[in-house]
Amino acid sequence: MTEVRHDLSGLRCDISAAPANPLVWAILTLLLWVPMQTFAQDAGNLPPTPTSSQVTDWCGTQKRWAEKQPAFTNEAAACPTYGPCDVAGTRNAYIPDPGQSTTIIRLMFHIITLDNGTNASTTPAMIEAQVANLNADYAPVRIEFEYQYQTHASSAYRSLNEGEFDLMKAAYAVQPDSMLNVFVSYVEPSYSYGTFPWDPQCLTVYGGIVMTTGHFSNIQSTLAHEVGHCLGLWHTHHGVSEVNECSQCYEKANSPDGDVTGDLCEDTEPTPLSYGCGGPGGNDPCNSQPWGLTDPQNYMGYAGEGCWSEFSPQQMGRAHCWLNDQLLGWSSGVRFTHTNVLGPAPHVVDFNGITGKTVNAWTWDFGDGQTSNQQSPTHEYSDAGLYDVTVAIQATDGQYETVRRELVWVYSDSMVVGSPTAVPGTSNRIDIYARNHLPLQEIMLPISWDGPVPITFDSVTTTGLRTNYLSVQEYAHYDDYSKRITYRLAVNPNGSQAELAPGTGPVLSAYFTMPPGTSTDCPISLVSYSNIFNTFSPRFTVLPGNYDVTAIAGELTACIPGDINNNGFGPDVSDLSYLISYFTGAVPSLPNPAAANVNGTGTIDLSDLSYLILYMVAGGNPPVCSS
Ligand SMILES: [Zn+2]
Repeated sequence: MTEVRHDLSGLRCDISAAPANPLVWAILTLLLWVPMQTFAQDAGNLPPTPTSSQVTDWCGTQKRWAEKQPAFTNEAAACPTYGPCDVAGTRNAYIPDPGQSTTIIRLMFHIITLDNGTNASTTPAMIEAQVANLNADYAPVRIEFEYQYQTHASSAYRSLNEGEFDLMKAAYAVQPDSMLNVFVSYVEPSYSYGTFPWDPQCLTVYGGIVMTTGHFSNIQSTLAHEVGHCLGLWHTHHGVSEVNECSQCYEKANSPDGDVTGDLCEDTEPTPLSYGCGGPGGNDPCNSQPWGLTDPQNYMGYAGEGCWSEFSPQQMGRAHCWLNDQLLGWSSGVRFTHTNVLGPAPHVVDFNGITGKTVNAWTWDFGDGQTSNQQSPTHEYSDAGLYDVTVAIQATDGQYETVRRELVWVYSDSMVVGSPTAVPGTSNRIDIYARNHLPLQEIMLPISWDGPVPITFDSVTTTGLRTNYLSVQEYAHYDDYSKRITYRLAVNPNGSQAELAPGTGPVLSAYFTMPPGTSTDCPISLVSYSNIFNTFSPRFTVLPGNYDVTAIAGELTACIPGDINNNGFGPDVSDLSYLISYFTGAVPSLPNPAAANVNGTGTIDLSDLSYLILYMVAGGNPPVCSS
């Protein structure tokens, strides 16, 4: 920078005497920038490409930026600048006051799944937790974030390398000039990166952040780091490890020129890339001075989660400056927080609208047809379902709106065991039905057959059912003593299956054998129980969590074909006479109608009587049980 001022005789102003008007500085900086482009052809010194271990360690921002750069970095002249915010005086004018109202930035997360909708790269719950952490990290910066997310099914982008980034972004980016897109997927090799605001692609579909899944599966501040890049922050080690050693942009140990070298912030200490909380140690090869104190606590270094705790004031100024200079379209104006969004109907959620603006009117749309005009409304969802929530404000400077898709998950789900007719001595099928209002990841089915008759559990199947593509696992082992077994139906652990769409119908068919001669109905139920390791209950799992459902028992209705009087034997003469008595009105009802419908027509009439007589006296077809 100093050298450039020399070259440009018309710009001999001291930075400390910088005019406060950012517009003036925008023009001056533009004048500075254009001549540097002219030098470009002379010098081919790209910032060094990070080694593979550096990339693997995590942030590919510098590498991506270097690849896009024309070879203009004229280090003989100065450290390159890209806009007014690279000027210290301009930057300092934007350093936030601790009490100033926050600026809200709109984020759009992209969850990537396989083609069949499974193996999501992250969850809504994790996104919410990451944004909460991000908001905590940026609270001193006076910047807040609100978010939406979308889910995209693409096996091609569920794991991707650098050559595929732009294809994915072009396919999925949403309004890049009005929100910061964050793509979460597995990056090979694993790293994350953000796009600088001076990158010509920043506000195009090719801007935004790519987070590798490893940086998003735990609550850590890597997202704060990448967002820092998007708000114009270099690495704190930029001046040492990302420029040519001892070049004009090199930030020497004990350097007094931190504002015009390296990360262009004087209040971040010069440092080589370092991964530890204790700093790098050793001396600067360019001036033999010890590195001394560096800033491992700074989010823009590589010290990581255990060390990070702050941005420097000048970094905060840069962030606000770039936000004002390039990124104002990302400002949302309004965001909101909420209480638990997963619950049984009726389910109450408290919402809290947040804005730094002067608001004339609040409007909430809860997604179930109900609205509110309060800033912090409480809303009761009476019906099960999956709901979007929208908050809009009419502020003194315009209208702002935030939508959270599929935010509220309300259930009133149930499972019911059927009650079919069963023939003793054979294996009988009994279906278990589920009614789910939400897309399910998993169904837990603890089945019990502890009735008065010692029936035998045979097997289960999902063949022909709406769950037939789910994995079926014997989750808790067959327990002959307590007469129970627990099955788990789930999207495949390897992620090769899709969620079970909302619906009603059988989800599992179980087979049981009753002892021959049984005339007692046998209860089959879904029970909650515990062993020393676990508690099992009829339970559904959805993306935000799991919940127990109402379970209704059924029974195997014993039916010996032709055992019309239900005495455990038949058909014999006593059954024949019982049926005749029924038709003559001598007995008012049948103890086991299924056994009396011997010809299987669905109604009990005189044809059943003739069918039974034909069988007993003339070798006709055997009776059946039919309800
Ligand atoms: Zn980085």
